[in-house]
Amino acid sequence: MPTSADLLSAAYNDADRTIELRRRLHRHPEIGLHLPQTQATVLAGLADLPIEVTTGKSTSSVVGVLRGARPGPTYLLRGDMDALPVHEDTGLPFASEVPGAMHACGHDTHVAMLLGAARLLAERRDLLSGQVVFMVQPGEEGFHGARFMLEEGLLDVVPDAPVSGAFALHISSTMPSGTVNVRPGPMMAAADQWRMVVRGRGGHASEPYAAADPIPVAAEIVLALQSMVTRRVDVFDPAVVTVAHIEAGSTNNVIPDSAFLEGTIRTLSAAQRSQVVASVQRVATHVAAAHEMTVEFEHVAGYPVTVNDAGAAAEVLETATDLLGAPASALMRAPLMGAEDFSYVLEKVPGAMAFLGACPPGLDPATAPANHSNLVVFDEEPLPAGVALYAEMALRALA
Ligand SMILES: [Zn+2]
Repeated sequence: MPTSADLLSAAYNDADRTIELRRRLHRHPEIGLHLPQTQATVLAGLADLPIEVTTGKSTSSVVGVLRGARPGPTYLLRGDMDALPVHEDTGLPFASEVPGAMHACGHDTHVAMLLGAARLLAERRDLLSGQVVFMVQPGEEGFHGARFMLEEGLLDVVPDAPVSGAFALHISSTMPSGTVNVRPGPMMAAADQWRMVVRGRGGHASEPYAAADPIPVAAEIVLALQSMVTRRVDVFDPAVVTVAHIEAGSTNNVIPDSAFLEGTIRTLSAAQRSQVVASVQRVATHVAAAHEMTVEFEHVAGYPVTVNDAGAAAEVLETATDLLGAPASALMRAPLMGAEDFSYVLEKVPGAMAFLGACPPGLDPATAPANHSNLVVFDEEPLPAGVALYAEMALRALA
């Protein structure tokens, strides 16, 4: 397809601009829903393009609309722009200049690639029948930024043509550089937090029978939860339950009143999700009851399952093959148990999220510092390929 080759070389011709923007964002990471400096950089990057821009009311989000030469459907491209509360230790010349904040998930690369694609698409408006919506979102790292944007009307930003397809790219330091990795169906897990307090009765450590010691009960709950997962959860619709934090007691000779536990639940279907959340509460409550204790249980719902539309995932693989060659296009064997708030978009419209491999040269994807690490480094070589992929997905959707 002639457009593909042309797009890819245009993206590589623009590589300096993409990488410069990425490094500028990388030096100045911002965390959460309010990213004024990052938002200003995005607005400046879109300013000379024929793109209608609106900004979020409750967050620093940016929505751009590019209208094609002819009417048609509306296709959405997402890039997230928030950083993590991590202190960067990479020693890169463009490392974070903000102590305690780092673009450790590579969202700086997403913004740079999305703005690169916006430029390529703006130059090719005559090929578009319909509109491209650029969703530049804050607060992906647990702040539900996408949900705020949906509540503010993201999908109806073109009133006569609501968004009918969507695509997002996420960089990964643990996948081979230049590969595009995707799968149909569940792509990333739902993430739920839970906390519990086991209520016992404090006393002297020498007389446990006169107290109600919550510590062995907490330990029993930890093990019972693992048995619950292996015995009660369908292996073909899996779940992860991790107890990540336990706290009880203060010294060697006192039985405490209570024990605190918290952790995460990861699932790949809505049905399994609600069942496992209920099971964690049930198991804990009944183990405690066996010892005449009670459990106060709290569940905090995180992101839902990120589900790729089968047709959209196939389209990503085909487009990546046409653009970058067959070896660059990889069907993922399994989902990742991390979570993504692009899931909220994919609950509403069919689409796909894919990973762009960016393991640095000389490192093994199996052992390279992963996304979220204070040492993570992303290879910048494939960024223009990501630019071209974003643009080509929109071009094909609106051909
Ligand atoms: Zn991320």
